Amino acid sequence: MISKQHIINRFISYVTIDTESDPESNTTPSTKKQWDLANKLVEDLKDIGLEDVNIDEHAYIMATLPSNIDQKVPTIGFISHFDTSPDFTGANVNPQIVENYDGKDITLNASENIILSPDYFEDLIQYKGQTLITTDGTTLLGADDKAGITEIITAMEYLIQHPEIKHGKIRIGFTPDEEIGRGAHKFDVSKFGADWAYTMDGSQIGELEYENFNAAGAVVTVKGKIVHPGYAKGKMINSMYIAQDFINSLPRMETPEHTSGREGFFHLHNIKGNVEETQLQYIIRDHDKEHFEARKKVMINLTNEINTQHAKEVVHIEIKDQYFNMREKVEPVMHIVDIAEEAMKSLDITPIIKPIRGGTDGSQLSFMGLPCPNIFAGGHNFHGRYEYVPAESMIKAVEVIVKIAELTAKK
Ligand SMILES: [Zn+2]
Repeated sequence: MISKQHIINRFISYVTIDTESDPESNTTPSTKKQWDLANKLVEDLKDIGLEDVNIDEHAYIMATLPSNIDQKVPTIGFISHFDTSPDFTGANVNPQIVENYDGKDITLNASENIILSPDYFEDLIQYKGQTLITTDGTTLLGADDKAGITEIITAMEYLIQHPEIKHGKIRIGFTPDEEIGRGAHKFDVSKFGADWAYTMDGSQIGELEYENFNAAGAVVTVKGKIVHPGYAKGKMINSMYIAQDFINSLPRMETPEHTSGREGFFHLHNIKGNVEETQLQYIIRDHDKEHFEARKKVMINLTNEINTQHAKEVVHIEIKDQYFNMREKVEPVMHIVDIAEEAMKSLDITPIIKPIRGGTDGSQLSFMGLPCPNIFAGGHNFHGRYEYVPAESMIKAVEVIVKIAELTAKK
């Protein structure tokens, strides 16, 4: 069986290395410190006995576990990212181990009175009796996605130590900069050479995802005219009021805080303005491709309407697509989801299959020719001080990886 202490030790050796990524940087990886963990991972992959361990000039890591059967079976891949979110500091992570969790409040930090409480984070209750790894309340943990890294390496180690488990060729890939949306950008899909892959980057145990948002960003620029307020009658155009009209003309309930499931939204996430110019930044999200296109159309039509009212171009809109729903790339090869679901069920894990209200590297990879659903890595409350992961969920994720390898070779 997989040793709990072994997986905890490996995980801690990764989360204590700071790998925060930086959206302001133009290099890959975006921060130099990501090399610290990347170089260690290369050594660890060699140590456990993987072949073709390779790191490129952008810190993308790939390695191979060769097939141990004669017949030809599909090559599958497992992928995770080693950077952590710039939303919250990942420096000096000091993990706390809560053994045999009693279902009550966990004091993360007594001096700052930071409490991880099941009254607020109800998910905690299901892990009563398990071993939780938390932060000390001052940093994020980095289970997103060093739990995924730990699980993939532990699973490969397990398969190497258990040659009686038959499997085809397995490729593994670790990327930098996922948290700033660039994890897939320099991923060489043809070099990876897998028929399909799974990102181990989901949250709670059981998650299995192959639908995500279609996503675009819109920048709306409103131009006004500044005149001395004492002499402004009939002359001043206040761009902030026009921007307000724009905001109020979009459906008020189609926003992140009023939608769930497969409902899409317009999300105004930034305003800056003065009389002369106001800029609104939106993101547009929808699982349905037609609805997604319709949302973009709504914003363009609204822009045109306001311009017609003013008899000149006071509003300018720029919309850029960001990523698309991987569902259309995964549905033609639905067996790759079925295998993951079967693996979970055979391990008494209830699959939680639901559309992601976000995107994953897997969605970009799917459109680059590598169909790539997402599987749980076990952590909760990503990108902040309340992040935690149960060791038992990480062990289950290892077992899922092993089982997927085994089932793929039997098909
Ligand atoms: Zn992640």
